[in-house]
Amino acid sequence: MKYRSGKELRELFLSFFESRGHRRFPSFSLVPDDPTILFTIAGMVPFKPYFLGQKKPEMSRAVTSQKCVRTNDIDNVGRTARHHTFFEMLGNFSFGDYFKAGAAPFAWEFLTEVIGLDPDRLYPTIYKDDDEAFEIWNKTVGVPENRIYRLGEEDNFWSVGPVGPCGPCSELIYDQGPAFSCGRPDCDVGCDCDRYLEIWNLVFMQFNRYEDGTMEPLPKKNIDTGMGLERLASVVQQVEGDFGTDLFRPLIDRAAASLGIRYGATPEGDMALRVISDHFRAVAFMIADGVLPSNEGRGYVLRRILRRAVRYGRMTGIDRPFLSDLMPTLNEIMADPYRELVENESLIVQVVEQEERRFGRTLEQGTNLLEAEIDSLRRKKAESLDGGLAFELYDTYGFPFELTEEICGEAGISVDRKGFEKAMERQRERARTAGKRHEEASAKSLYEKILEETGSSDFVGYTEEETETAVVALLSDGTRTRYLEEGAEGEAILAKTPFYAEKGGQVGDTGKITWKGGEALVTDTWPGTENLPVHRVKVLSGRLETGSGVRAVVDGRRRRRIKAHHTATHLLHEALVRVLGDHVRQAGSLVTPDFLRFDFTHVKPLSPEEIEAVEGIIFETVTDNIPLQVFFTDMEEAKKLGAKALFDEKYGDVVRVIKIPGYSVELCGGTHVDATGDIGLVKVVKEEGIGSGLRRITAFAHAAAFSLFQEQTSLVTRLAEKMGAAETEIEEKLQALLEERKALKTENERLALAAALAKADGLLEEAAEVGGVHVVTGVFEKTTQEVLRQAGDHIRQRKSPVVSCLASVSGNDVTLTVMADERAREAGVHAGMLAREAARMLGGGGGGRPDIASAGAKNAEGLEEALRRIPEIVGEQIRR
Ligand code: ATP
Ligand code: MG
Repeated sequence: MKYRSGKELRELFLSFFESRGHRRFPSFSLVPDDPTILFTIAGMVPFKPYFLGQKKPEMSRAVTSQKCVRTNDIDNVGRTARHHTFFEMLGNFSFGDYFKAGAAPFAWEFLTEVIGLDPDRLYPTIYKDDDEAFEIWNKTVGVPENRIYRLGEEDNFWSVGPVGPCGPCSELIYDQGPAFSCGRPDCDVGCDCDRYLEIWNLVFMQFNRYEDGTMEPLPKKNIDTGMGLERLASVVQQVEGDFGTDLFRPLIDRAAASLGIRYGATPEGDMALRVISDHFRAVAFMIADGVLPSNEGRGYVLRRILRRAVRYGRMTGIDRPFLSDLMPTLNEIMADPYRELVENESLIVQVVEQEERRFGRTLEQGTNLLEAEIDSLRRKKAESLDGGLAFELYDTYGFPFELTEEICGEAGISVDRKGFEKAMERQRERARTAGKRHEEASAKSLYEKILEETGSSDFVGYTEEETETAVVALLSDGTRTRYLEEGAEGEAILAKTPFYAEKGGQVGDTGKITWKGGEALVTDTWPGTENLPVHRVKVLSGRLETGSGVRAVVDGRRRRRIKAHHTATHLLHEALVRVLGDHVRQAGSLVTPDFLRFDFTHVKPLSPEEIEAVEGIIFETVTDNIPLQVFFTDMEEAKKLGAKALFDEKYGDVVRVIKIPGYSVELCGGTHVDATGDIGLVKVVKEEGIGSGLRRITAFAHAAAFSLFQEQTSLVTRLAEKMGAAETEIEEKLQALLEERKALKTENERLALAAALAKADGLLEEAAEVGGVHVVTGVFEKTTQEVLRQAGDHIRQRKSPVVSCLASVSGNDVTLTVMADERAREAGVHAGMLAREAARMLGGGGGGRPDIASAGAKNAEGLEEALRRIPEIVGEQIRR
């Protein structure tokens, strides 16, 4: 068998199937267009709508090498030679075209003829009842009967879920030889160990399963196959597992250099190197596809994987960020064909480093805490760690739950997940704010029904602000109604509408609907479902009826302010890229009539100079008054124009392009000004961090910027008047005032101290004497603890043995400072106990060392009595 690199194998596979009528697609994003899963977990995911019959494919055969992330295999990574969190799945697909008789010979031909695997080491497995597959392997392909293994449902039957498309599958197993065997006497095809390696799974999608469990043949049968590129490479390159292939080995070596260890030296070190190289790949590809660390969803998975890698690094002794050292090596291996790695390189490096630094700071503390707890659990022979502690580790030290679980697992201790989730839920509840459109979710299916019934409602608002239309449906309190009476509130759906429904961060339009004999306010518009804008209405006069003709009129002034903020957002985006660099990516935005908010990837706060530079670029572009070009095209064309790539756009989609010639090109469905001059003015008003590697800018444009300017200039004028200075002198004058204030404060403190010391002298005169010890008590008005302490010191220097108990009162608040000198202590006085006693009498708290202590309470009234009893308590301490 000829040696082939991973890159060659990928290309061989794609071109083999391409030459057999398959359309080749570049890998789709790791972030799927499918709300039921977080990541693309197999090659078939992007094609799911075709398999489920929801969409008609434009081709009947396809081939990909698909980027995949599987978290369910994370514990296996590094332990087996064949599991990764990130891997590539080579797959050929047939949508109602060829079936088993096509798929099996294709796979056999590719493996034995193109790649040159020894046919005597290849075993097909089939589903136990699938005689059709047996015949094909045996008769058509020519595999001897005794080499075809029949396995059960668990291994060889595939389904998307309990209902829906499903079917038997057939796996190709490669015998790596006895050296790889687990050694069990029954080790054979189907064994879990590395000897009989599953390299390719051919899924024959042939049934539809119903809720009652019955299965009916699908009218169009499909083929979905998946082969791990890394596994294929390990077999072809004849190395020990995936980590020995050219797809991994350079990463391992690079990591070993950073950690200062050698691959092959110790089992722990090797495990760490495998985990680190695997996890770094996953992290880099996830960030390249737009995922950022967070505490939820995909971001949480990313954080978990990254932190797990950091921890493995720490276990080998490294204590600096090291993961991004692997970036150049990863680029060498993968940047062809995965350009997104290079395009996002600086972002990946910055995010990874920041996250490592952040986690590194608390990792040690958290680990110590956890290990102490594990020790004590072990001593108590307990088996489970408290969920509340797991939550504290998560919340305070950034330990993903799974990490705590893993560390505990190494010590044979489980973690109470329920308790963790409860603690998490309690915190969420505290943070929760009432959802704005709570009913929206439940109404969703109702909107879908309306859409089915009435068809889509066209948006005509790109070109018109008012239009003649008709009411096609009305809702009141989430149910359909024929009409809305005067004074009623409800929701209206129109045949077509100029109202923009909230989307892509742009808020919905408001305005009014008028008809003969009546008028209603539109207070908000949002997409009830795709292509179905829903208007929230309040009927001011008359009666709004389903079926009636109406005139829909958008509030044009408000719309103009929204447009200005939307186009300003595009100007800001490009200006940020120019000032900060290519790593800046949009992560979210909010466009309203009064302000805009723009979230983007960047790890540091912006300096005032950077913000000014950004504002300057925007100002230039506004004053250049560039007319916008807005048009529809397809994704390929948009990419060619250099449109800022979004992470979730799909191949072949029609996209809307907003082009500001000479400045920027973006894909966007929002409403925009005709020319940049219409924006007026843009001012950044706030810049803040909102999470790992994410910043947020809030800015005002148009009328909002103008009002801000007016308010601030008038504020400056008022300040100048109050200070009796010219506007240009305010700052200087304020500085002088601050300095004067500081000097006064110092002087005031000096006087207060002098007065306190004089008072202490007076108290000393009146001091009681108990068993030879002088007991000084007294009350000071609104004094700091520092002054009390100095007064106490003063007393200590004048008399001995002495104990002082000085109080400060402010309103009802009492603070006590108790001090005992050495001779008083020798006589038996303990300042801490005395403070505690005094606090007890006052109903507060206190305590401290034998020589100095303090107490606090909210009980000024009881103070006098408490102080009177101090000598008595001192007496008791001395007698004891
Ligand atoms: P295994 O039993 O080895 O975990 P699987 O049955 O989960 O594999 P499939 O879901 O059938 O695998 O995926 C198809 C192919 O993708 C597998 O035959 C294998 O080559 C590859 N594959 C699956 N999971 C992984 C993984 N975690 N890392 C690397 N390759 C994988
Ligand atoms: Mg698996």
